[in-house]
Amino acid sequence: MLELKNVTKIYKNKVGTDVLALDDISLKFPDKGMVFLLGKSGSGKSTLLNVIGGLDVPSKGEIIVKGRSSKDFTNSDFDSYRNTYVGFIFQDFHLLEDLTVEENLKFFAALFGVEVEDSYDLVAPIYRQIEPFKNRRAGKLSGGMKQKLALSCALIHRPSVLFLDEPTTGVDAVSRTEFWDMLADLKAKGITILVSTPYMDEASRCDRIALCNDGRILSIDTPTEIVQGFDAPLYA
Ligand code: ADP
Ligand code: MG
Repeated sequence: MLELKNVTKIYKNKVGTDVLALDDISLKFPDKGMVFLLGKSGSGKSTLLNVIGGLDVPSKGEIIVKGRSSKDFTNSDFDSYRNTYVGFIFQDFHLLEDLTVEENLKFFAALFGVEVEDSYDLVAPIYRQIEPFKNRRAGKLSGGMKQKLALSCALIHRPSVLFLDEPTTGVDAVSRTEFWDMLADLKAKGITILVSTPYMDEASRCDRIALCNDGRILSIDTPTEIVQGFDAPLYA
């Protein structure tokens, strides 16, 4: 359904030198399930998510969506990819901080040209948890509540795939656990999930881990295979 072929992304830094953010990445995503993109800061996670999510274009290479190459995409193909197929949660959530919880949800529904009711079954189990605070401004929410609102807004147009960029960074431990449970529910409802994290301890929650370093994918394994790959015990 979704595949990257030889994707390279080169940025220019402030002094005009090339930065190789993605280095010739080829990978095929499973049609179902949850994939983790695990890597330290600067390893290329956000760039990869942005490129796959259609928010940025590769310098070289292509994305194949349902058998069609991004090289053949018109602007309106990109719009429809972003607006119907993909759901995205940015690292800092990108909510409208001066709008209330309820206004944010309505704003994102309007942005995608849908009615909140259309995705009620997907959004309600998450939104209900923050509904008591529906008149609170998004900027005044805790990290865990922002995360739930961002997830509700990202699901409003019923995307097939959901990309999340470090959604649990800076969020307390209880909210993190609740969040993984919500993602597991979404996965069970058939949404494919690609989520980046710098936390190894969260990795057991996914089906596949893609290890990301210096703009390359070092390996793609199940969590069990990754743990078995460490031949020395962590604690003597
Ligand atoms: P991560 O999300 O894993 O922290 P990023 O994808 O943000 O990694 O960054 C990968 C590399 O690309 C880093 O060296 C970063 O400095 C560089 N980079 C990312 N975005 C830009 C940009 N807009 N301009 C220049 N360099 C960038
Ligand atoms: Mg990042």
